[in-house]
Amino acid sequence: MTERPTDTSVVIVGAGQAGLSVAYFLRRLGLDPGNDFVVLDRGPGPGVPGSSAGRRCGSAPRTA
Ligand SMILES: Cc1cc2nc3c(=O)[nH]c(=O)nc-3n(C[C@H](O)[C@H](O)[C@H](O)COP(=O)(O)OP(=O)(O)OC[C@H]3O[C@@H](n4cnc5c(N)ncnc54)[C@H](O)[C@@H]3O)c2cc1C
Repeated sequence: MTERPTDTSVVIVGAGQAGLSVAYFLRRLGLDPGNDFVVLDRGPGPGVPGSSAGRRCGSAPRTA
């Protein structure tokens, strides 16, 4: 299992477009991902477009 830092300056909640953009610019500023900042997401992976849009709008999840 990967070690996770228990002490970090920045926690970005959500690995959507907004969260990943913040992570990108923090890295460009010289912060070290995984140590100076972490990105957390409730989903299985990052960058799923609009994955929280249905919840924000209060609509029911779509079924196939
Ligand atoms: C069907 C659809 C089609 C779209 N098509 C386009 C398009 O063609 N072009 C375009 O420019 N835009 C499009 N959009 C809009 C675009 O997807 C959104 O504007 C953009 O994804 C918003 O980014 P975001 O980071 O704010 O939110 P999101 O992309 O929704 O990311 C938020 C992230 O935060 C996570 N999260 C939420 N709550 C928590 C929590 N409590 N704890 C941990 N993680 C959490 C979610 O799992 C998700 O990964 C579309 C949207 C939808 C719904």
